[in-house]
Amino acid sequence: MSVPINGLSVDVEDWFQVGAFEKVIDRENWGALATRVERNCDEILQLFADAGVKGTFFTLGWVAERHPALMRRIAQEGHEIASHGWDHERVFRLGREAFAADIARARTVIEQTSGQAVKGYRAPSFSIDARTPWAFEVLAEQGYAYSSSVAPIAHDHYGWREAPRFAFRPIADADLVEIPVTTARFAGRRLAAGGGGFFRVLPYAFSRWAIRQVNREDERPAVFYFHPWEIDPGQPRVAGAPLRSRLRHYTNLSVMADKLERLVGDFRWGRMDELAAREALRAEPLALAA
Ligand SMILES: [Zn+2]
Repeated sequence: MSVPINGLSVDVEDWFQVGAFEKVIDRENWGALATRVERNCDEILQLFADAGVKGTFFTLGWVAERHPALMRRIAQEGHEIASHGWDHERVFRLGREAFAADIARARTVIEQTSGQAVKGYRAPSFSIDARTPWAFEVLAEQGYAYSSSVAPIAHDHYGWREAPRFAFRPIADADLVEIPVTTARFAGRRLAAGGGGFFRVLPYAFSRWAIRQVNREDERPAVFYFHPWEIDPGQPRVAGAPLRSRLRHYTNLSVMADKLERLVGDFRWGRMDELAAREALRAEPLALAA
């Protein structure tokens, strides 16, 4: 069997929109803060172009509305633009009707600005879990081909530990495929291995080991994600955030670009819509033990 093509994804949000700071930065104040997302995405586009890889940019509708030229640049360079919802509200906080409105609003703006049809969705903070069985129904109703919104792991503020590690069909009579973010197996446990603080804080060798395990032993593609603010040591520092949040947010920002260069060079990478189309052929129906 040939080596799988992994999914390379960027969750496009600005430094002030992350879950870690939601208690100290009010959504109403976002518009007054210095935006960094466009310059950071341009660096990512350059990194991807230098490596000759394409990826998927899961973008907030709020960002697409304010940065239409960035949306066009991403699309023109051959990357996929998908949805990260409107303003990063977690799915389990929205409820079914508000979720349907949130993703419809984001999709309209993303499609208008990018000129691309949106096929995929990633929930803010991987917030589709056992509490939100209706979320997949809404995504299927709105015609999404895939979602990459589940972290099949126990984590302190997200995760759905009983979920399958690889592609599954959450709705029996719909084509929608969920592509969970990557986990590795170690000593009978699942470890988060698809990006975030784990990639920034742990040595690069850990991520390389984990993705190799997924590609060679599981014979499946990995799904990796990162954020524009993760490559930006010059971003403003948020005072008043809990120490734990600040450590998680700011650790190793300056080495991130080097790590990313190694990552994109060491493995095969591509767009999530193409990965989802391949994985759809082997996705199992969701069957959770009661
Ligand atoms: Zn996000």
